[in-house]
Amino acid sequence: MKIRFIEPGNRPYRKSPLNYFVYDRYIRTPSNGMMILAAILKEAYDDVYCYSESISKIKWADVLDADLIFITIFTFNANRGYELAAYIKKNSRAKVVFGGLHATLNGEEAVRHGDYVLQGEGDETILPFVRALERDGDMADIPGILYQTDGRMVSTGRPLPPQQIETIPARQLLYRFQKMAGHNTIWPQVHASRGCPHSCDYCALIAAFGRGVRLRAPETVVEDIRQAIAFFDTGHRRLAKVLWITDDNFFADRDWAVQVLQAIIRSGIRYAFTIQARYEVGLDDEMLELLKQAGFVELAVGIEFLEDQSFQSYHKQSSYAGVLQAVQNIQRHGLRVRGLFIVGADGHEKGVGDRLADFVLQFNIAGALIQSMYFIPGTPVYETHKDLLLEKDNWARCTGKVVHRPQKLSPIELQKEIITASKRIYSFPRLIQAILRKRGLDRILFIGEYCWQMSVRQDLRRDIRYLRKIIGEAK
Ligand code: SF4
Repeated sequence: MKIRFIEPGNRPYRKSPLNYFVYDRYIRTPSNGMMILAAILKEAYDDVYCYSESISKIKWADVLDADLIFITIFTFNANRGYELAAYIKKNSRAKVVFGGLHATLNGEEAVRHGDYVLQGEGDETILPFVRALERDGDMADIPGILYQTDGRMVSTGRPLPPQQIETIPARQLLYRFQKMAGHNTIWPQVHASRGCPHSCDYCALIAAFGRGVRLRAPETVVEDIRQAIAFFDTGHRRLAKVLWITDDNFFADRDWAVQVLQAIIRSGIRYAFTIQARYEVGLDDEMLELLKQAGFVELAVGIEFLEDQSFQSYHKQSSYAGVLQAVQNIQRHGLRVRGLFIVGADGHEKGVGDRLADFVLQFNIAGALIQSMYFIPGTPVYETHKDLLLEKDNWARCTGKVVHRPQKLSPIELQKEIITASKRIYSFPRLIQAILRKRGLDRILFIGEYCWQMSVRQDLRRDIRYLRKIIGEAK
């Protein structure tokens, strides 16, 4: 059995000098989940290999004679995934199987472009699925499989989230990953736990995988970190040596989080880490001290909104006062705060971009990721807002651009608010200030993000022309 995995690129990889400065134009960090599933299959099958259009072109000569091709899709790269599937179907006899977050939430859409959809996380179902295909194709006992027969959609039911999540991703099975790991724009990443007990209305994670939190053994997390660092740093001189802990809510189980941080400290690993977090961790002094001791330099806080009304509208358990208190406390402990923001909530009006930039500048937020409100099918917010969406299936625009008609400003006005905020946060005077006054990692990261945000703004500006076309708005 020859098995290949493909991760489509929303903008397929292209060799470009931009790759050295700009994340996300022709290069981005490949999917961890794909490399975990490849590792699981590699235990049973010799010929397993992966391609990610985030870091390389696909070697079709190696892919088209495979027996089985998995295509893993998030929403933003779903259309490209369908394009690749059509090409494979035309040129190969391989069975095409879709997986990933978007395919889990939109199985009926995805299966129309392939033979099967493997829904859910796949750790415990992918091997039985491949074995069933080899045997007689009877999938009845394997939950989470979707396929069509005689024009009828057949589902084997919703899979339970896997409990065994200790597998370390097979980074070496991804074509050209070792070579591309030298780029400072892609970072080593480790996923230590899965799930989140909250239920924000726009969160695809909860819609796809439920609210149960599952944890990896602290020793496995440390081993994964060791392997990720060795993989990225061997043979490369990386400027920004930062490892990203990508959990959606690492701190959901406090006792476990403490154990993991203590295990990192005991391991003697000396590295800089960044991690995503809800604001509450910023009020936990003991945790912040442990993070510091373990080598964490930054918390990427899901601030999202700056007004309580929006938190309430989307069932985000958060408050402006709590966020502010947390930000200041994190900084008191000597950690940077990166802010993850959403604009385009129902209550947002003209000036939302300026307000966001004021907040970032006033409270010394080290970096900002700003995206327009997003609506992944299967989430509560999709159900309540689907009539406001500008397009139905153009998933490729779901990269932070405006995709709906907000209540209190036009789509173009909203997109301009994002540009305004980015321009003020990543302004030329602030770049000069960073070069002259910041040191070490702070300086490198600001310069990197400045370049990246220039490219983001360019994309957003170009996209305004497209927005005009689809909504017929005058200049
Ligand atoms: S807290 Fe974060 S991960 Fe948890 S449901 Fe809300 S958005 Fe999703």
